[in-house]
Amino acid sequence: MSTIFKDIIDKKIPANIIYENENVLAFEDINAVAPFHFLIIPKKEIKTINDASTKDRELLGDMLLAASNIAKENNIDEDGYRLVINCNRNAGQTVFHLHMHILGGRKLSWPPG
Ligand code: 5GP
Repeated sequence: MSTIFKDIIDKKIPANIIYENENVLAFEDINAVAPFHFLIIPKKEIKTINDASTKDRELLGDMLLAASNIAKENNIDEDGYRLVINCNRNAGQTVFHLHMHILGGRKLSWPPG
């Protein structure tokens, strides 16, 4: 079943998009929890990281490379940032279209809550 992120991919609902290529889209989180908070998603509908397969190897690599490029372009690469993929209930996943958070612009505590 499609999620709200499919509507963002299809440009049916607006989002602050900062990066797009044929496989991946990145846009600002509507409820940012850090000064820099974007979501990197595959255009392919994959529910959770558990649902990715070896066929998605290149796509998963594209998501990581998009993250480091976005970090560099927005000058958060040297100070640092965090990439997060929440999976299912215990991690608090709320949108069941695979997404990677890129969080930066402030010191992030560890361990996460
Ligand atoms: P999760 O908790 O599933 O890892 O993260 C889902 C994220 O998607 C949340 O941080 C939430 O704020 C964001 N989000 C949910 N709906 C929308 C939306 O319609 N637009 C945007 N830009 N972000 C959304």
